Amino acid sequence: MELLALTAGTALAGVLFIKQLRVPLLAAPAMKIAKGVLPSIGDTERIALEAGTVWWDGEIFSGKPKWKRLLSFDVQGLTKEEKAFLDGPTEELCAMLDDHKIFQDRDLSAATWKYLKDKKFFGMIIPKEHGGLGFSAIAHSAIVTKIASRSLAAAVTVMVPNSLGPGELLLRYGTDAQKKHYLPRLAKGQDIPCFALTEPHAGSDAASGTSFGVVVKKKVNGKDVLGMELTFNKRYITLAPVATVVGLAFRLTDPNRLLGDKEDLGITCALLPRDTKGLEIGEQHDPMGVPFKNGPVRGKKVFVPLDVIIGGPAMAGEGWKMLMEALAAGRGISLPSLSVGAAELSLRAAAAYAGVREQFGMPVGKFEGVRERLARMAVNAHLMNAVRVVTCGAIDAGEHPAVASGISKAYLTEGMRVSINDAMDVIAGAAICRGPRNMFARAYNGIPIGITVEGSNILTRSLIVFGQGAMRSHPYLQDEVNAIGRGDVKAFDKAFFGHVRHFLGNAVRAFVLGLTRGYGTFTAHSSVAHHYRHLNRLSASFALLTDFGLLILGGSLKRKEYLSGRYADALAGLYMASTLLKQVHDKGYPASTRPITELALQQTLYDIEQALLGVVRNLPNPPLALLARLLALPLGARLTKPKDKLIDKVADAVMQPTSGVREQLSTEIYIPDAKEEGLGKLEATYAKVTAAEPVRRKIGAAVKERKIKKGSATAMTDAALMANVITAKEHKLVLDALAAQDDIVQVDYYTPAAYGKLR
Ligand SMILES: Cc1cc2nc3c(=O)[nH]c(=O)nc-3n(C[C@H](O)[C@H](O)[C@H](O)COP(=O)(O)OP(=O)(O)OC[C@H]3O[C@@H](n4cnc5c(N)ncnc54)[C@H](O)[C@@H]3O)c2cc1C
Repeated sequence: MELLALTAGTALAGVLFIKQLRVPLLAAPAMKIAKGVLPSIGDTERIALEAGTVWWDGEIFSGKPKWKRLLSFDVQGLTKEEKAFLDGPTEELCAMLDDHKIFQDRDLSAATWKYLKDKKFFGMIIPKEHGGLGFSAIAHSAIVTKIASRSLAAAVTVMVPNSLGPGELLLRYGTDAQKKHYLPRLAKGQDIPCFALTEPHAGSDAASGTSFGVVVKKKVNGKDVLGMELTFNKRYITLAPVATVVGLAFRLTDPNRLLGDKEDLGITCALLPRDTKGLEIGEQHDPMGVPFKNGPVRGKKVFVPLDVIIGGPAMAGEGWKMLMEALAAGRGISLPSLSVGAAELSLRAAAAYAGVREQFGMPVGKFEGVRERLARMAVNAHLMNAVRVVTCGAIDAGEHPAVASGISKAYLTEGMRVSINDAMDVIAGAAICRGPRNMFARAYNGIPIGITVEGSNILTRSLIVFGQGAMRSHPYLQDEVNAIGRGDVKAFDKAFFGHVRHFLGNAVRAFVLGLTRGYGTFTAHSSVAHHYRHLNRLSASFALLTDFGLLILGGSLKRKEYLSGRYADALAGLYMASTLLKQVHDKGYPASTRPITELALQQTLYDIEQALLGVVRNLPNPPLALLARLLALPLGARLTKPKDKLIDKVADAVMQPTSGVREQLSTEIYIPDAKEEGLGKLEATYAKVTAAEPVRRKIGAAVKERKIKKGSATAMTDAALMANVITAKEHKLVLDALAAQDDIVQVDYYTPAAYGKLR
């Protein structure tokens, strides 16, 4: 018996450890099975998946994140020049912007357009040698954040030329001649760019567009010119109505083999000057009434020379790759920055309003229902800014973190939605009635734009974040799929057995860490050490459950969007919490913002665990799902929602005017002049109300002691003066505050004639 066991054991070890035996006996059949199970990938999907770099997301998928990789990289700060631009031209631009007027005029003012061009706001990403500002991602982001807190229409206008458009594509792929011609013109705003990808039947599935080009030879001015005839129908194109140069994506074919021996060359990107004959441009859409320029671009058999292809004829067919590469970094900058601007504005204004608006005899910020919302806004502003800063920092450090950028885009625009809605709820009627006094109704209109553009959020959450993450950031999956594609058994053997070790290692790790709550794993900074431990534990559980998902569902996992959405939530939570820990590591853990960091981490960790619980509850194979649950969450979901006490501490921190926390959580936004309607006056009123608060308490005490009679606030203040309860100076202080308070709760109203003209 013993001999039999020994022989069997030796044979098994031989098969496992001797490559010459393992490859034919195990790897080859495993590859056959895997071929039928693992996701098959088309060309456009492969290009999208391969775009960008694997960064911290790869560490999360490993199940054993090497924190030093995140903690030791330097998040670049603003250079002197960038800071001067933020404090100078950006502040000046914000001062010029009157968002209500922009809505009424349905455009930025001519002076604003000129200022944007003169100061090179459209050339932030263009290097200095081409006449641009050559700013870092973090500077670009800080500028967009500030402008967005002032005017969404202006922010979108500035964002587009600096993000996924001709500028970025030319920088990466343009020929020298194209760069020399266009970049200085784009930098100075002599050319206004747009990029047209979307079509009526190709939105989320952008690669399925039907716009096409055919390579043809045509006589132009008596000369034979090799060119393309383009037929296209694009819509939703930002800046198109005013663009002077139109980036266009289309499928190029060469039926007469004029360029080589390939007929279908593939998706190609070109730049068409506005005056191109046959280019139909100028009409406008009306995106939620937010007056930035957006419209369709069409053309039928428009003839253009081949040198309009970005990168020249050699880059024909490379368009999809170019776009996906540009998207990998770009999505981490513009919309996340815009979202942070909105989240910070929401917190700043709602907390001030909750301090000055009184109902039931006290500021509404004292009511727990309101405080809960204020705490959520504080957490959002804090966490979202950490994600913005660290993601932009990674981009500045040379990464093109496709998965992290996708998370940043989708989850920060969702955060913006929550914060603006919370601010609307707290400010209530005064946030609903439109006019110069109301800064939120216009921002509210813009929410769906951020949610929809650059990969709409449902698609990004359900398909891209986890789908791309699992394929790209998983340490073995892509190698396995590639090996299967090539029919390379040896490469498959290497990847597959690495994967098996990874799976077994994570099974043990997740189980043990689940029992010990992450004991013994890497931590930094003792005050947040417990959060590191939980993140280590949850990362192992996430990695393990990813493999269980693949084992049970194989390639069909990508179509199971209920599940992949939950995986995405867990991955996004792990990423976002990591960025906050990175900020604590880099910037310290000041007492003032501790409760906010603590609440943000507790809430995020809770959400991650709930998302993982949702995964194990819904995996379709009950025995394997049970095993997955026992290994990944051996004690079940143990984290609880943050306690009311902590929420209250956060609300206290933001509502305590002397704490400076409200200001610390909104340092990126523009604060207007104290006389200006909206945030300017609100800030000034809040300061007055705060200064008058001790005097009002004195008056309240005098009422209780029956020294003066209860009445209106003004009557009691007058009576307090008469009764020598307060001084003349204090009397003035309170009356000033009451007058400001009265003014700030007013809303705009219109005569029927004026209302009729309102936009
Ligand atoms: C204001 C604005 C500005 C824009 N600017 C530009 C621009 O400058 N250039 C440009 O080329 N395009 C631009 N777009 C287009 C934008 O990128 C698309 O609107 C976006 O990609 C979504 O396409 P769609 O609106 O057709 O939605 P659809 O593709 O019709 O999607 C409908 C819904 O289905 C979801 N969905 C689709 N497929 C899946 C899936 N597989 N899994 C889960 N959910 C899915 C989507 O998330 C969405 O919620 C802009 C759009 C707007 C509204």
